[in-house]
Amino acid sequence: MIIVLRPDATKEQIDHLIEKIKDLGLSVHISKGKERTIMGVIGDESLLEGAPLAVLPGVENVMPILKPYKLVSREFRKEDTVIEVDGVKIGGKEIQVIAGPCSIETRELLFDAAKKVKRAGARLLRGGAFKPRTSPYAFQGLGEEGLKYLAEARKKTGMPVVTELMDPRDIDIIYENTDIIQIGARNMQNFRLLTEVGKLDKPVLLKRGLSATIKEFLMSAEYIAAEGNHKIILCERGIRTFETAVRNTLDLSAVPVLKEETHLPVIVDPSHAVGRWDLVAPLAKAAIAVGADGLMIEVHSDPENALCDGAQSLKPDKFASLMKELKKVAEAIGRTM
Ligand code: PEP
Ligand code: MN
Repeated sequence: MIIVLRPDATKEQIDHLIEKIKDLGLSVHISKGKERTIMGVIGDESLLEGAPLAVLPGVENVMPILKPYKLVSREFRKEDTVIEVDGVKIGGKEIQVIAGPCSIETRELLFDAAKKVKRAGARLLRGGAFKPRTSPYAFQGLGEEGLKYLAEARKKTGMPVVTELMDPRDIDIIYENTDIIQIGARNMQNFRLLTEVGKLDKPVLLKRGLSATIKEFLMSAEYIAAEGNHKIILCERGIRTFETAVRNTLDLSAVPVLKEETHLPVIVDPSHAVGRWDLVAPLAKAAIAVGADGLMIEVHSDPENALCDGAQSLKPDKFASLMKELKKVAEAIGRTM
């Protein structure tokens, strides 16, 4: 059960409510957002039968929620959540594309990609500074130096930026230099990390784990929301299956399922899903057709020499032509780009 408190609920009213719930043998999880406070009641809800919580002072609404994910569920909020980052709206009618290199390699390469993806119509820039690489000997990212270039690129182009946080020790430096904090597939169930970003006031882009079910994905989003941060963007990026022809199997059905189950924006990353640049375009189009609110696409000016994920990176001219095609798909289903 979720109890939504009135914006003007006093501390005394809240304390009284908590006491009442605890007396009934249930526990309470408080989620203090910027605008309002929400209480999740945890335990056997039948114990609440006959307890008129809805009429207690300070309470705005009481909602039974049957799903294990509460705050992120469609039951909790019927309308789509739209997350605004520097004037760019994610989750609304307009499709948003986040584009840029897998990792920030040099200032010049990042600036070049930023300028070109912006010209092609992308409104958000991506670039990894801390990279989750399978091999400890592979390029691990430029770290703080990369974040500095990313912040410069944001200033120069005016595009909000997205970068991955892998370690709670880097929270402050990432927070200062990014507009959206990415939690990568490998950390989708790093619950301590989720809890930490849940305490922040910046949007979080949560990628689906390599072998995570949709329910597990939503439970991870719930970890973030439970701490008070409800600005969560979900990203389907392919899952592990028996198929080896492509890097991962893009679970397109996850998009409409997620849109039904949650009010959060859902985007698709076809680059990490397929691992091959020539398959990015068809899957990007399909993703919009099935209802994704946006895309994350890797773009590199010199993919052959890229230090990370060159094989799946689009050259800027290919990206620009894809953007034109995507606009047509978006318009065909009544959306804009
Ligand atoms: C990335 O987007 O840079 C990345 C590493 O993706 P994923 O976590 O989906 O593998
Ligand atoms: Mn990558």
